[in-house]
Amino acid sequence: MEIRENKMRIGILGGGQLAMMMIQMSEKHNIDFIVVDPSDNPPASKYVQCIKSDYNDKGSLDLLITECDVVTIDFENVPSEALKYLENKVSVYPGSYAVEICQDRLKEKNIFNGCNIPTTEFRTVNSISDLSLAIEILGNDSILKSRRLGYDGKNQITINKYSAEEAWRLSGETESILEKKVDFKTEVSIIGVCPKSSETIFYPLVENFHRDGILNLSIAPYENPKLQKLAESYHNKITKELNYTGVLVIEFFLDKSGNLIANEMAPRVHNSGHWTNEGANISQFEAHIMAIADINIKNISVNGNSAMLNIISKMPKNINKSNNTYKVYDYGKSERLNRKLGHITITNDDKKDLIENVNKISKSFF
Ligand code: AMP
Repeated sequence: MEIRENKMRIGILGGGQLAMMMIQMSEKHNIDFIVVDPSDNPPASKYVQCIKSDYNDKGSLDLLITECDVVTIDFENVPSEALKYLENKVSVYPGSYAVEICQDRLKEKNIFNGCNIPTTEFRTVNSISDLSLAIEILGNDSILKSRRLGYDGKNQITINKYSAEEAWRLSGETESILEKKVDFKTEVSIIGVCPKSSETIFYPLVENFHRDGILNLSIAPYENPKLQKLAESYHNKITKELNYTGVLVIEFFLDKSGNLIANEMAPRVHNSGHWTNEGANISQFEAHIMAIADINIKNISVNGNSAMLNIISKMPKNINKSNNTYKVYDYGKSERLNRKLGHITITNDDKKDLIENVNKISKSFF
């Protein structure tokens, strides 16, 4: 890899809060960044100049090719053609193959099952007759999810609320899957960092609580050595299959019999890892940058217990941004229903005290 004037330059497609924190958290590595994003003043523009253009814009992609050593992404819905165009000429981590799989719930489920990783039962739905048959097989306690562009509970229809016809119409009659609802005990995620040329390094499992399909609260570590080992083994199978470099996160349901059921994965840093900024020696953001820049990560360790509360739709007016109990991140975005505007992290050596603080903060602000 060519190093320009001893300074590496990384291109990021997407300038959201994830890109912003990748830049912010890896300051000490003396890396330059170029961000491409179609929106005006995305969160990353607080730290670097962002190029405003579509992801498919050839001029912007050519600029990344000539100016960058590595290109990465801050969200998985970057057009895969853009990644394919780039990866012929510059290192792209994660690559288009991995991203394409994560963009499509059907491909994702098939790769999980191909690696012998359990998922909930599902059926492919391309028409109203597919949907009626799928409901007959899986029952009404199931969810219709669009194969693409579904995140934070978007494009998901709970079948028991609607007839098949209504659900199909509401879905926009788009390529979908019907999946059986899992009666879960809780939800957990595993965050793994895959360096270019050494073994994956894992953070401890994180416990996640969603509201209306959107992550509300994460608490780490979720201590269970057996499940940790199992989640790591599933993660290893997937990243081997995808020939993966960088951070990859898998979200699981933990069912009432203690099984991990894979729900989905993210080929990037993830909301359930935001606690690592305060709760670990190396955050997921810095770790991703180190992995793709081929900087050696000696080890990852966590400090005590951490929690992360998302700030969604509205920024609380009474929030105190300088205090010793919690840390507030404001992404500088305008308020909108169900939009992630920021988050709060709280750490404590004692898990009980941590939960008490989380409840107090939740009550005061949300
Ligand atoms: P997703 O967009 O697939 O990550 O779904 C968002 C959230 O909706 C999940 O984290 C769960 O809380 C809930 N959910 C999604 N799919 C299922 C399912 N098959 N069974 C039970 N809950 C689900």
